[in-house]
Amino acid sequence: MDVTETHEEDLGIEIVLPEGGKTAPCCPHGPTLLFEKVCEGGEGGRRFYACSACRDRKDCNFFQWEDDKVSEVRLLARRAENQLKRPPFTQREYSNRFRKFASLPLHEKKFCQDCQLLLLPAEHSAHSAHRSSAVTAAQLRRPSVLLRPLDNKKSNAQYLFTDHSAHFLLDTLAGLGYRKVLCVGTPRLQELIKLRNQEQKQEPMKSLLLDIDFRYGQFYSQDEYCHYNMFNHHFFGGEASSAVLETFLRETGGEKAVMVADPPFGGLVKPLANSFSLISQTWRTLQSSDDCNKDMPMMWIFPYFFEPRILECLPSFTMLDYQVDYDNHPLYKHGKTGRKQSPVRLFTNVSARDVVLPKDEGYRFCSACERYVWSLNKHCAKCSLCPSKDGREWKHCSTCEKCVKPSWKHCQSCGRCALPDHPCGQDRGKQGCFNCGSLKHKRRTCPLKDTHRSNSFRSKAKAGGKKVSRRPLVKPKGKRKSGAARRAKKLAAQSV
Ligand code: SAH
Ligand code: ZN
Ligand code: ZN
Ligand code: ZN
Ligand code: ZN
Repeated sequence: MDVTETHEEDLGIEIVLPEGGKTAPCCPHGPTLLFEKVCEGGEGGRRFYACSACRDRKDCNFFQWEDDKVSEVRLLARRAENQLKRPPFTQREYSNRFRKFASLPLHEKKFCQDCQLLLLPAEHSAHSAHRSSAVTAAQLRRPSVLLRPLDNKKSNAQYLFTDHSAHFLLDTLAGLGYRKVLCVGTPRLQELIKLRNQEQKQEPMKSLLLDIDFRYGQFYSQDEYCHYNMFNHHFFGGEASSAVLETFLRETGGEKAVMVADPPFGGLVKPLANSFSLISQTWRTLQSSDDCNKDMPMMWIFPYFFEPRILECLPSFTMLDYQVDYDNHPLYKHGKTGRKQSPVRLFTNVSARDVVLPKDEGYRFCSACERYVWSLNKHCAKCSLCPSKDGREWKHCSTCEKCVKPSWKHCQSCGRCALPDHPCGQDRGKQGCFNCGSLKHKRRTCPLKDTHRSNSFRSKAKAGGKKVSRRPLVKPKGKRKSGAARRAKKLAAQSV
């Protein structure tokens, strides 16, 4: 949950979503994304392809200018490299291995910690110098406990739900009548669904895990796991694998499906929203004709300060007040010193008034807003809403005519509310619109944005010359941090 990642748009880097016809070059993580540096005045800079999944070039150093001519030799080398980085087994092989493993006697069930692999008896000797441990039947059902969480800060840190939050999610989804849960980057949720099915206390649920961490594949059958990249909607197992998703989304026998995604928080919102829309489209084509305008019900778990960005990409979503807790996050778990508030929320297109938040944990129903809110989120009659985003009680500023964070004070010279120690008057120039320079809005909401630069075509003549650092997304030296990044830092420092 390294949320200090820089915001794609505030950096002046825009993602150009794939248009029909043009195929992006592939890195080991599937088709790359096309990035474009946006320069002052709104002109587009030179475009380049970079990895969709990795924000750190240590993890994937793919880079190619859009107009680069790539030699045949390089293409072959690239293909060989992509081949090398594939999982050691196909999903079919993984599920066959799992079946064999599950039927072994206890003393032959071994897990190699160094290789993060369930070992079959014939493989024991090859791993004898590695650290390995016995695996009980119970452990086999909890892969998210057995596997070492990836802790790569930038691209793929794995933060697992507390059982409490996971059970809340499942109870909520069951209560809403869903019987199929598409788990996108939520391995612990998938595992809890299976555990709950075994207990037979509730109606059974089906689940399918889509995740880039192929270690999870070894615990599941072919219709329970797909090796998938949620930043480019890429199925590593090809069509056979995307067919698994289609089969899952078919709501035979009236079993309603819902998606729950918990992407890495350094992730880029736009490509994620694009992938989720594609999943929704697939779902829609499988619905009976009277449902052809509906969207697939979804929950996207992400920090609250991404709200404007998510709502911009997916306008039918709303942010709920529920605070999602994690087991292994250094900042946002229940500590000895009491509960630290998590900044992570649910974004959903399910009607907010239907998602009941637990009273005994301090949530209440606001009948004016028609949604459940956190206890400190007091309704403001002047704003006619429950304004708090961060879990603290906000207060109304009559000059700004809106509610603001409790720590903010109205500043006469800036003409707005800000932290008492804000760099007064200094941030004016920087705060303006990157596109037209106006101080009234950001580039994102600029009315001139689309007239200045079109998404689909730019004059090639202007593309050259402008230098873009090799991987501008990686280390934006000297660039200011985005609002989201600043807030993340502050949160970490204050632990409010
Ligand atoms: N809270 C969740 C785990 C979230 S951590 C739970 O408890 O189940 C983020 C998850 O997204 C991890 O499982 C990680 O492997 C997966 N992930 C990271 N990058 C991904 C990508 N590009 N495509 C698909 N899954 C990804
Ligand atoms: Zn090993
Ligand atoms: Zn107010
Ligand atoms: Zn004010
Ligand atoms: Zn503007």
